[in-house]
Amino acid sequence: GRCVVAVDGPSGSGKSTVSRRLAAGIGARYLDTGAMYRAVTWSVLRSGIDLTDAESVAKVAGEVDLRIGTDPHGYGVTADGVGVDVEIRGPEVTGAVSAVAAVPAVRALLVARQREMIAHAGRIVVEGRDIGSVVAPDADLKVYLTASAEARAARRSAEDATEVAVTAADLARRDTLDSTRKADPLAMAADAVELDTTGLGIDEVVARLRELLTE
Ligand code: C5P
Repeated sequence: GRCVVAVDGPSGSGKSTVSRRLAAGIGARYLDTGAMYRAVTWSVLRSGIDLTDAESVAKVAGEVDLRIGTDPHGYGVTADGVGVDVEIRGPEVTGAVSAVAAVPAVRALLVARQREMIAHAGRIVVEGRDIGSVVAPDADLKVYLTASAEARAARRSAEDATEVAVTAADLARRDTLDSTRKADPLAMAADAVELDTTGLGIDEVVARLRELLTE
């Protein structure tokens, strides 16, 4: 039957790995909404427009042909037909994504796309920042993953081979940017289950989520 799982939390909370594994384990689709914000950011950077010009940023977001797969074993992201899977994880996009994601028109557009994709999927695990609170408030399970700042920085630098100190500073900067918006999309949904993943292995977190799903 239909089943929507919302997995929210800050970067480095382990949500990508956990969400993909959970989706693969329960035979669900997987949607990485962060990748969508990143792909729009890549298009904005490529267009050369000023990042602080919200109107132009929104215009690019509205015009780009953004496509994203939902296979938890491997999904591709394309922007205007260009594969951007590698580029959207690079430092340029990572450095600019918070500013792009803060533009209300960009959020409105991507939230609508995400809701459409969720409506067309039977079972789906959706990962992001505002899934339980905004995108899918009727989700069957909402989890909010957290982890200590140290654990998050360590995980992120293991992923992208950046120095821990650099990663820690970048995470702190993005957390501040992401959480000081007017309508805070990072706010945890009131009915979300908060799970601190510090010191937990991926398998332990996935097992806990599967338990929650059958409860
Ligand atoms: O999860 P990831 O690090 O790929 O997300 C990149 C950025 O996209 C976040 O720092 C945040 O600014 C934005 N984002 C968002 N809402 C989402 C997913 C990501 O604002 N649902």
